Amino acid sequence: MDLPSHIPTPVSTIPEIYERLQSRFADRSTYSLDYRRYNLKQLAYLINDNKDKIFEAVKRDLGSGDFQIQMSDLWPILHEIELAVKRLPGWMKDEGRLWDAIFTFQTMRPRIHKQPKGVALIIGPWNYPWQCILIPLIGAIAAGCPAVIKPSELAPSSSALLAQLVPQYLDPEAYAVVLGQVEQTTELLQRKWGHILFTGSGRVGKIIADAAAKTLTPTTLELGGKSPVIVSSCANLKITAKRLLSIKQLNTGQICVSPDYILVCKDVADDFIRTCTETLDTFFPHAPHPQSYLTSDMTASLHTSAALERQIAFLNKAEEEGKLVHRGELDQERRRLGISIVRLNANAEGEVGGIVEEEIFGPVVPVIPVDDVDAAIRYINARPNPLALYVCSGKRSVFTKVIAETASGSATWNDFGFATIARSLPFGGVGDSGWGSYHGYDGFRTFSHFKSILEIPYIFEPLMAFRYPPITTIGKTV
Ligand code: NAD
Repeated sequence: MDLPSHIPTPVSTIPEIYERLQSRFADRSTYSLDYRRYNLKQLAYLINDNKDKIFEAVKRDLGSGDFQIQMSDLWPILHEIELAVKRLPGWMKDEGRLWDAIFTFQTMRPRIHKQPKGVALIIGPWNYPWQCILIPLIGAIAAGCPAVIKPSELAPSSSALLAQLVPQYLDPEAYAVVLGQVEQTTELLQRKWGHILFTGSGRVGKIIADAAAKTLTPTTLELGGKSPVIVSSCANLKITAKRLLSIKQLNTGQICVSPDYILVCKDVADDFIRTCTETLDTFFPHAPHPQSYLTSDMTASLHTSAALERQIAFLNKAEEEGKLVHRGELDQERRRLGISIVRLNANAEGEVGGIVEEEIFGPVVPVIPVDDVDAAIRYINARPNPLALYVCSGKRSVFTKVIAETASGSATWNDFGFATIARSLPFGGVGDSGWGSYHGYDGFRTFSHFKSILEIPYIFEPLMAFRYPPITTIGKTV
């Protein structure tokens, strides 16, 4: 299948792109409900008309199977569009703030009026080349903002296809794709934007925040990090293993909310590890079985040879130290590595080279036995705030305690990853895992300015005259 090539946008054209979108914002045509809905629907057509090409592009970029592309990249986008098209009239309405106002102000129609912030800049990562670009774009379109999209150069087929399709389906005066790397992004970041939504690593997140501070541009940073799992003594180990390993296989762990390490109460640690290895055997029969990890439609390749070598280095070091429990099957050529389990000690910082400190972003699962749930909480609180936190326990009270005593972008009881697609929930991190949020209404909110409105007609003059000098007795007692 023919796909467009990834040709970086000449840096010299960026000022013209920026001015074009600024003019569109200034002429206010992106403000109307009809315009927003039309472009949202066009975005759905962009995906539905070009599914074969999109599947092919993601396969070339990530080696993902059809199931994975459909379920975790495209399906969430189409559902977000459906929600925004349906709910937009309600989202755009002024929001009354009557009840909390004191009586005098209640008569002045206190309310929130929602306005687009301006031309948005959306910068995305390689691991979800469609979802992490188009769901932010849905928020921008819904809010009435034009947008420049800068997809990742490390997903070149998807990014180039996006650059070809966006001007065919969306208003080219309002939506533009800039292809490229640091040079193009740096040029974009010289400018003032209505809002920047960045998804990627904490390292680049700091560069974005630094540049945005210079132009006072508001930002949303969707970053990564290590998302822990707590397995309590009363967890259902079989269900936990199945749910855990089925999310871990998705994109081979290259997901920002993929469970990164498992803190398991030590009285069930051996049982838990055994249950995980048994579950892996039933999930993925050995190659050449068509459902093996190496060929399954549900898994993916490691993104680069360096990424594969990094995971293998974790495993080799763990083996040397006698901590390797299960080594997944390997297909070096296709960069596929099966889920692998490593058993660590809670108090052995720095062991197995970096695995405890760095985001794993791959199929290695470190299991760390801890004394109890309190010890797990202490372990988590001694580290940067995670994007997602998972608690597996037969008792809801354990979950409630963990929610209250830890900070994380989201927290889920007994399952993994679903908080990102619940639609009604904001998606975002806290502290080192990012700031701000989007998805559904929160995407609309992120790109909108919520303007406070108060109306004080002249006939209210008797009510308002108390503050005019000279101050009367009534004025002094107010
Ligand atoms: P990255 O930070 O390396 O790159 C992200 C974007 O930043 C790319 O478009 C890239 O071109 C650009 N970029 C890179 N260096 C830059 C620089 N010096 N100046 C300006 N722009 C620069 O991230 P990645 O490797 O593409 O993605 C993986 C990371 O993203 C992981 O940490 C993962 O957890 C995180 N992630 C987070 C979410 C989320 O929603 N929170 C989703 C997906 C991925």
